[in-house]
Amino acid sequence: MWFFFFIVTLAALVALHFGWRAKFLAQQNLATSEMDVFQKQTQQTSVDAKAQQQILFNSMLEGLLLLDRNKKIYLANRAFTEFFNLKTELRGKTLVEVLRLHELDGLLQRVETEQQVFGHEIKLPELSERWLQVNAAVITNSTGEREGTILVFHDLTRLKQLERQREEFVANVSHELRTPLSLIKGYVETLLDGARNNPEVAERFLKIIERNTNRLDFLIQDLLTISSLESGRMKLELSPVNLHSLAEKVFGDLAAKAEAKKTSLINELPELIANGDVNRLDQVLANLVDNAIKYGGANGAVIVGGKKLENGALEMFVRDDGPGIPPESLDRVFERFYRVDKARSRDQGGTGLGLAIVKHIVHAHGGEVWAESESGKSATFFFTLPATTAA
Ligand code: ADP
Repeated sequence: MWFFFFIVTLAALVALHFGWRAKFLAQQNLATSEMDVFQKQTQQTSVDAKAQQQILFNSMLEGLLLLDRNKKIYLANRAFTEFFNLKTELRGKTLVEVLRLHELDGLLQRVETEQQVFGHEIKLPELSERWLQVNAAVITNSTGEREGTILVFHDLTRLKQLERQREEFVANVSHELRTPLSLIKGYVETLLDGARNNPEVAERFLKIIERNTNRLDFLIQDLLTISSLESGRMKLELSPVNLHSLAEKVFGDLAAKAEAKKTSLINELPELIANGDVNRLDQVLANLVDNAIKYGGANGAVIVGGKKLENGALEMFVRDDGPGIPPESLDRVFERFYRVDKARSRDQGGTGLGLAIVKHIVHAHGGEVWAESESGKSATFFFTLPATTAA
């Protein structure tokens, strides 16, 4: 009996053991496979994280450069390679090997001693001027040991260009204001000093004063127009505009000027209807016709014409038979204060802003403007207006 009981107990224990072992092994297998999955996931996650990091670095507008403790390149993002137009593998090379910019080497030495340098500006020795701002700092580990250096490059070129444009603009405006002002001042002083007692001289001087105050007035009007166009404050009031009638109106406004130079004004514009701001389009045509009279030859002709293009857009032109514009100035005449012949423009009372205003207004309408010229023979200014929905 005892023997039987012992055998049954032993069998039960063996069964229990094997059952438990099988279960344990099954659990272990499960755990191992879970571990595999976990490890794979971890590996995948780190691959993903690396890829994401790479995407992040390469999508940065700033150039990023990481140097190891031996000042060798460890990582350089896409913006960095593009700033310096680098095509080869950079990893493991020194900065001087890659860029040959000794200024940057000097900067690295400064970072060594100062730990960080912010706002260091460098001008790249290229044909087209390029400016970068570099911020650099030493990377240290938890024990304070130097692990490497990080350098971040910002492209300052656009900012520098804007700064220069602003400075030039202020210098030009001051110059344009000063010239007529000093003339007015000079003639007023001469009149006060006694010239007023001679009626003939007084009248001549007063006419000069009047011409220069007009010039100041035009300049200030043009400056205000440019400023509201550039700031986007000027809103277009669109309505159907008959371009033939508009040209007639502009010719009427400038008739006396054309008459004085014996210039014929010819309106070849068909009855095209544009969807535009009538006052602004008036300004465009008036500026172009005024220039054509001003710079065209005496006893010449100014023709205004146009047509509807296949895509439905309208293309207008203003042509004169003057000395034309040299090829290198054809694009530049639309810049503020750019003049082919400074003395001639000022003589004619020009502000140097007319074509810049024309360009702004045409662009605001969604059109294009350009000049063509046959040197010594004629200049033609073209502008387009997008297809109109107006009847
Ligand atoms: P401005 O007040 O000097 O006329 P604009 O901006 O209207 O200023 O024109 C810029 C420059 O373009 C002029 O100074 C002149 O040198 C040149 N220009 C403009 N229109 C003509 C033209 N029809 N023929 C020759 N040169 C022209």
